[in-house]
Amino acid sequence: MLGPQGSGKGTQALALAVRLGLAHIASGDVLRAARSGGTPLGNEVRRYMDAGDLVPDEITIRLLIDTVKAREGTSGVLLDGFPRTVAQAEALDEALAQQGKRVDKVIELLVPLDVVKQRLASRLTCRTCGAVYNTLTNPPQVSGVCDLDAGELYRREDDYPEAIQKRLAIWEEQNAELTRYYDAGGIRVQVNGDRPPAEVTEDLVAVLQDSDSPVTGR
Ligand code: AMP
Repeated sequence: MLGPQGSGKGTQALALAVRLGLAHIASGDVLRAARSGGTPLGNEVRRYMDAGDLVPDEITIRLLIDTVKAREGTSGVLLDGFPRTVAQAEALDEALAQQGKRVDKVIELLVPLDVVKQRLASRLTCRTCGAVYNTLTNPPQVSGVCDLDAGELYRREDDYPEAIQKRLAIWEEQNAELTRYYDAGGIRVQVNGDRPPAEVTEDLVAVLQDSDSPVTGR
């Protein structure tokens, strides 16, 4: 799934994985897990993530390809946040080809940048389970506390205005290259993500179940 930070990729990917029985791999989660390990690699990952920069391809590719390979036996994998660069897309294609597999579909969630900026600035994340809230549109029942496991809600280091601005600028540049790469394979589908989440999920399910890849988004 492609889309800017705050486009609802993570929320939609979770819902789709449950509906369609797919394994969900979020690059941000994989990298955050590496970051919290306290290893030299983890500390390097931390420096980039906290600044809102992309983690270098070499590290990201190694960690994400290993994670994808670990799910080899599953009926399918939904990738969220990876690949982000053409080098990552090429590495993924190569790793999948070695297993006789391929990327079937690339879904791009379309949401205007001013909408995602506002979503990111009001986003809170549970420190223990990773559930995501929005202080404006989806607040927790008790302020600062996760509804699911009573974990502490916090604002991610990269959800502060300066880092948001930087992440979105990087995204715009990388996404243009990535969409060109996938257009060449004719597997990219666009879905309008600026609608109520349940409506978006229904469209995504339809797209993933339809082998003709219609372009949707009302
Ligand atoms: P996300 O949770 O997708 O917003 O990702 C959070 C941060 O993780 C990003 O700002 C990057 O620092 C890093 N990151 C996630 N995915 C990638 C990727 N595919 N390539 C490089 N860095 C990534």
